[in-house]
Amino acid sequence: EHLPFSGKVALVTGAAGNIGLATARRLALMGADLALLDLDHAKLEQARADLKGHDVRISIHACDVTDNTQVSQVVDAVVRGMGQIDFLFNNAGYQGAFAPVQDYPEADFARVMQINVCGAFHVLRHVAAHMVTRGFGRIVNTASMAGVQGPPNMAAYGASKFAIIGLTEVAAKDLAPHGIRVNAISPAFMGPGFMWDRQVELQARAGSQYFSTDPTEVARQMIGSIPMRRYGSIDEIPGVVAFLLGEDSSYMTGVNLPISGG
Ligand code: NAD
Repeated sequence: EHLPFSGKVALVTGAAGNIGLATARRLALMGADLALLDLDHAKLEQARADLKGHDVRISIHACDVTDNTQVSQVVDAVVRGMGQIDFLFNNAGYQGAFAPVQDYPEADFARVMQINVCGAFHVLRHVAAHMVTRGFGRIVNTASMAGVQGPPNMAAYGASKFAIIGLTEVAAKDLAPHGIRVNAISPAFMGPGFMWDRQVELQARAGSQYFSTDPTEVARQMIGSIPMRRYGSIDEIPGVVAFLLGEDSSYMTGVNLPISGG
């Protein structure tokens, strides 16, 4: 059976998380073989079990994206094991603390930057080096609407996602001569679940003029700021990623697509 992504190999980072796993599932449905990268081996085993039943090859790779050497080894292992990498969904990330910039914990700032910026760079550069040798590649970086307009109390996260959009634009230019397209997606408020609850809770606790100190009211305020008046579902992300990886977006590179309800 010929599926749109048959014969393609996709490397997904943050693959055991919400957006990574949902997107891996969509790519498997479209026929892509999968290399799943995340921090923790047990969570990856669970992700692989969740994807059972799809007739594609799946390899799992426990790896900390902040460690350039580990990333290099994993990319080599994926190329050896799967033959090639056609698609990269560069998606691992961490939201960080919530505090006004003057109180923002310095160690957490560094950690967010290490994971979201340096980690994404490590993965992108090693995969891109491989893609350049083949003259083909499609890369999607997960940014955020926090990288388009800085939200209050999220100094590190906001700065890190602005950096991802910048990295996307630069990489798109550097890699265009090599047949590689690089784009980004920017989800905004996604729910329900851990990320939504955590940000509602922590924005309330940060106690700024922008949000109530009552989490229920913060949820109402956030939804009230969205033209579509609801948060997005994780299931509204994978199709956008598949669009950017596939040939329907063949003349698009260096763009950032908001997934934000307006
Ligand atoms: P999640 O926490 O469910 O998934 C993130 C995954 O990244 C986790 O499985 C985690 O283990 C992995 N990860 C973290 N640090 C890592 C490291 N050092 N090395 C390897 N893997 C690491 O969250 P999610 O919502 O699926 O987030 C995925 C991406 O989407 C992130 O980049 C996040 O910033 C972005 N995003 C999420 C939302 C949202 O509301 N969910 C909105 C905008 C952007």
